[in-house]
Amino acid sequence: MIPAYFHKYPKTLLNKGTGFLSGYSHSLNPYAGCSFGCSYCYVRQMPVSVFRGAEWGTWVDVKMGAAELFRTELQKAKAKGPVTIFMSSSTDPYQPAEHKERVTRSLLEAMADDPPDFLFVQTRSPLVCRDADLLRRLGDKVRVSVTVETDREDIRKHFSPYAPPINARLRTLRLLADAGIPTQATIAPLLPSTDKFAETLQTLVDRVCLDDYFMGDGSGGKRTRRMGIRALYEQLGLEEWYDPSAYRVVRERLLKVFPEDRVYISQAGFEP
Ligand code: SF4
Repeated sequence: MIPAYFHKYPKTLLNKGTGFLSGYSHSLNPYAGCSFGCSYCYVRQMPVSVFRGAEWGTWVDVKMGAAELFRTELQKAKAKGPVTIFMSSSTDPYQPAEHKERVTRSLLEAMADDPPDFLFVQTRSPLVCRDADLLRRLGDKVRVSVTVETDREDIRKHFSPYAPPINARLRTLRLLADAGIPTQATIAPLLPSTDKFAETLQTLVDRVCLDDYFMGDGSGGKRTRRMGIRALYEQLGLEEWYDPSAYRVVRERLLKVFPEDRVYISQAGFEP
């Protein structure tokens, strides 16, 4: 899907970390909207999408002048206490537009010059590898979490047809780890996967986070129910995966190859 792009000058960039992200002092979104438009994305039910009046996934705002504004806000925030940043809470910071726009890169340049206490980067895009030089400069003050909801490409295409392929994400994890950048594979939301998934991840990362709609959509699964996501499972005859207990199956598989303290469940896997 090619979205409509809008270039906007934001008044603020750093938002207070709240709810699921209350462990962070701030969240940071270099873009508004998201061209990946995943079927299960609950951001489509949040004000940023609801008041837009256009379908989630069809529009992206590019935040102009972001680095300059961010540098000022970071200074002010640092004067008040530790600054821990989650990037991003309601978009993917590596939109396809980031190839050209370089908003996220400009923010990372600002952070490399003046590091926050911690930065968590959440993405599903291989484009994050472009910024390995800047991420490396943050040392152990950064973690890059790459979403890999499943190891089945047919499942990925069913639920998230406009997002990057699974193999590209697995390669991304390898490249980041080889560059010495702290990484995490994030199975969120949990989608149907094979019994080889855990072993595949074990060759790439030493830390995994597992989350599902029932723990992680901020409403005990109600938002996801309202979006009718169950129907997507029914189309595949895989309803047993749309269940609050399904994560236990994958957790068991992970625990066969990862130490228990490297398998994080829901919010614990996103903490600073
Ligand atoms: S990549 Fe993330 S923010 Fe974008 S549509 Fe998918 S779940 Fe939503």
